[in-house]
Amino acid sequence: MAVSIHPAVDKGVKPGNANFKGGKLSCQCGSGAVEITINSQSAHNHVCGCTKCWKPAGALFSQVAVVPRDSLSVTAGKDKLKIVDASAAIQRHACSGCGVHMYGRIENKNHPFYGFDFIHTELSKDQGWSAPEFAAFVSSVIESGTKPSQMGEIRGRLKELKLEPYDALSPALMDAIATHTAKAKGTLKT
Ligand SMILES: [Zn+2]
Ligand SMILES: [Zn+2]
Repeated sequence: MAVSIHPAVDKGVKPGNANFKGGKLSCQCGSGAVEITINSQSAHNHVCGCTKCWKPAGALFSQVAVVPRDSLSVTAGKDKLKIVDASAAIQRHACSGCGVHMYGRIENKNHPFYGFDFIHTELSKDQGWSAPEFAAFVSSVIESGTKPSQMGEIRGRLKELKLEPYDALSPALMDAIATHTAKAKGTLKT
């Protein structure tokens, strides 16, 4: 049996819908769930092996995408949200009932990804969110307990799913970060 990456991709990556305009995400509380509403399609959806992103129970990777922060609002259960680590670059707002991270927000205006919130599209019943495109921070799954000897099998499965494995972010996002840094330093003009 193939190694399990994340329930949303283990049976094959479902394509997104180019006309999708957003939807609602809910936490896993049976009653009084936190709900957020997003008036936008997601972008840069990917699976992530880091130890900070929220993952469903038993999953090796998280699935995480970005949306413009102005498109996101908390529409139920706002008082249940708590920031996991206020000192982190990405402030993850988690439900204090079930532990699910509803959204991650960057408050530092100089951060390369300021203006985007991080969300887990699997928390939505709405269909059409942009599909995961790559795998980020793959080597980091070792930090959450994966044996180094399993990495070949994991990278092989990611390639089979057409989720190109990277040990940081994808080249497009690494370029975006470096461009931001170079502009901030004045190395890169315009
Ligand atoms: Zn909850
Ligand atoms: Zn992550």
